[in-house]
Amino acid sequence: MRILLTGGAGFIGSHLAERLLDSGHQVICMDNLITGRMENIAHLAENPDFEFIKHDVTEYIIVEGKVDYVLHFASPASPVDYLNYPIETLKVGSLGTHNSLGVAKAHGAKFLLASTSEVYGDPLVNPQPETYWGNVNPIGPRGVYDEAKRFAEAITLAYHRSHGIDTKIVRIFNTYGERMRHHDGRVVPNFIDQALKNEPMTVYGDGSQTRSFCYVSDLVDGLLKLLDSDLNEPVNLGNPNEVSILDFARKIKEITGCGGEIVFKDLPTDDPKVRRPDISKAKEKLGWEPVVGLNRGLERTIKWFKESYEK
Ligand code: UDP
Repeated sequence: MRILLTGGAGFIGSHLAERLLDSGHQVICMDNLITGRMENIAHLAENPDFEFIKHDVTEYIIVEGKVDYVLHFASPASPVDYLNYPIETLKVGSLGTHNSLGVAKAHGAKFLLASTSEVYGDPLVNPQPETYWGNVNPIGPRGVYDEAKRFAEAITLAYHRSHGIDTKIVRIFNTYGERMRHHDGRVVPNFIDQALKNEPMTVYGDGSQTRSFCYVSDLVDGLLKLLDSDLNEPVNLGNPNEVSILDFARKIKEITGCGGEIVFKDLPTDDPKVRRPDISKAKEKLGWEPVVGLNRGLERTIKWFKESYEK
């Protein structure tokens, strides 16, 4: 297949690009590099099946030649990034999704939308099944991401229903691994970076809020299965192992054997109190579940962080 991958220079995008190439596909990677980085895809540049196009997908997209699949992964994805780029975040989720769907329609291609657990907002139901409609503050600082992705889901299914496009929607829960930006502000890079530098570990709020962390290779396995499936409605992909942020800070200290004292900072506005995917649908329909435990995934990620300091 010849695949257009938006956001291909990002954290998840670059891992997905790599796996698609390994599976024998051709990848056109499109990114405007506001949060993606060329170094994430530098090792793919020589591959004849890989092409990079620097383009902002909120502007009209032109792709020459055939396209079999459009995978729309472009978006800032860290709360700090979408607070820094609120309008870009709204535009890539809305205009960028519209343009990406337009490419799929013009080329008769299939389409996959990278959506998010943020569509559930600060959920009143835990774990979150796909049938839960969420609890989102549309005008809060996180609303720029949440509402853009909710719009993206709506327009994706509208293209499916109105134009008959074969669409998939994945709701990605917290994912971590190699190539996360050291200072993207998310909890995994923050804690690892702080621990390795023996700096204070910044827990926001009292640390009782929970998250469930999925290692990136597990997520990519699930994405590949979803691409091959006939599911048109949203599917959760994530690891159901739920931990409190305070316990998570302690775990990073334990695994790294370093890290300064834990200090408590203000909880960001609308920070979800709980988050855990109900993955029954992915298990049943895709035969997928994560296999990399938190310790093993963190060890690999920490190793990569250490090596990246030495470069
Ligand atoms: N968090 C924290 N310390 C940090 C960064 C994040 O305690 O240095 C908390 C944050 O408030 C949230 C959780 O960790 O409750 C996960 O935050 P992240 O930014 O990774 O993404 P989110 O899951 O909120 O989208």
